Amino acid sequence: MTGFAGGCLCGRLRYDSDGPALTAVNCYCTDCRKAGGAPMTHVVLRPADLRTTGESAVYESTADSGGAMRRRFCPVCGATTTTDIVARGLITVNAATLDDSSWVAAKANLWVRSRPAWAPLDPTLPTHEKGFPPRA
Ligand SMILES: [Zn+2]
Ligand SMILES: [Zn+2]
Repeated sequence: MTGFAGGCLCGRLRYDSDGPALTAVNCYCTDCRKAGGAPMTHVVLRPADLRTTGESAVYESTADSGGAMRRRFCPVCGATTTTDIVARGLITVNAATLDDSSWVAAKANLWVRSRPAWAPLDPTLPTHEKGFPPRA
């Protein structure tokens, strides 16, 4: 998969990318869970590789690492579509908002220490207690 597109529930906030996605991860952190209403699977890419169009609002919070996280969401329907991980120079797309997410395959489980017991976990994936492991 190279290019992909998606958007919020009501369609006012859209994004697209020529790709390629760097990776995909399942995140069990409390912030993702609250923002998305469930644990989130993210497609990870560079900010320059994503285009956003339409109305949006940004909620900025501080990650466990101390870096800024900017979650972009639709001011009308409230769906969170992307998160800018400023310190990492990465942006993530909430895979649940993709028009076609059939190609997404998570490569790791992150923030498992925050996982609620009801959230299913793929035991075959590398699992990390906290966030993105240091880049190799
Ligand atoms: Zn919307
Ligand atoms: Zn998270």
